[in-house]
Amino acid sequence: MAATPTVPEVVLPSSTGQRKMPVMGLGTAPEATSKVTTKDAVLEAIKQGYRHFDAAAAYGVEKSVGEAIAEALKLGLISSRDELFVTSKLWVTDNHPELIVPALQKSLRTLQLENLDLILIHWPITTKPGEVKYPIEVSEIVEFDMKGVWTSLEECQKLGLTKAIGASNFSIKKLEKLLSFATIPPAVNQVEVNLGWQQEKLRAFCKEKGIVVTAFSPLRKGASRGANLVMDNDILKELADAHGKTIAQICLRWLYEQGLTFVVKSYDKERMNQNLQIFDWSLTEDDYKKISEIHQERLIKGPTKPLLDDLWDEE
Ligand code: NAP
Repeated sequence: MAATPTVPEVVLPSSTGQRKMPVMGLGTAPEATSKVTTKDAVLEAIKQGYRHFDAAAAYGVEKSVGEAIAEALKLGLISSRDELFVTSKLWVTDNHPELIVPALQKSLRTLQLENLDLILIHWPITTKPGEVKYPIEVSEIVEFDMKGVWTSLEECQKLGLTKAIGASNFSIKKLEKLLSFATIPPAVNQVEVNLGWQQEKLRAFCKEKGIVVTAFSPLRKGASRGANLVMDNDILKELADAHGKTIAQICLRWLYEQGLTFVVKSYDKERMNQNLQIFDWSLTEDDYKKISEIHQERLIKGPTKPLLDDLWDEE
């Protein structure tokens, strides 16, 4: 297995203590087909040099991620929890101002941690409080009080429950609204970005406003959903062959060269290592010309059934 590189970091400007986030994190969204447990995968990732983990209350993985961190400390793989960057997300059932602090405290108990590095609003949608259901039934949706929810998140950061607060799946329009009243601006917007959904406008807006973009589904879910726009793309196959790399590595290298952070999920030892091997080579100008020809289409259209017309504000 190839040697472990040091993953570069970016500073989150609005975080407490100017927290640094490793540009690459391990995703932990569950896949029914996975034979490896989240605890084993996170522990293996720590051994391989991953220091950034992307969890969410709705994934049901916080307990396993916490157990892996506790085990890594016990084994001496890390000397302090502070060596890790841990993100979680609040589910739509908790997007009520009075439920935010208790929901984050519950996540911390489940993770056995005193604080998070980053907490995100998973989706700009609110449903009635209760159990996590996926997909979300549109009949359960109530008004999203963005200002009230954000003020409670700011309270979480002031209380020291998290070093940074952020958004996920926010359009430019929704970020503009958020920025109009935020006293602590969002450190991050976590959204789908991959070679098949490059999100140039949203990325340019976030850059201008100092919001770090974290790309999710950077491989368009790899091979887990059958053939896909990037993993089975002839242009990318050609680039991968020319560089002696895999298509997944081309995808991740491109994200890195865009100045993005990204969370990629692999619970497989070899692929986990392969995904780390992207920091010591570059794409060429000619590669970029070819990449610009890739058909663009959003993969994750929304978490509701049926889909909402105004979720992405036509962006
Ligand atoms: P992804 O990371 O693009 O793809 C994951 C799939 O690709 C897995 O099936 C994995 O299988 C496979 N894979 C990984 N590395 C590979 C490689 N080198 N070659 C071939 N296949 C490879 O998709 P994702 O899980 O949707 O997104 C990543 C993370 O983003 C999630 O886990 C989650 O943490 C986050 N996310 C957030 C949101 C949100 O709303 N904020 C939405 C979606 C995802 P193996 O495990 O078998 O390697």
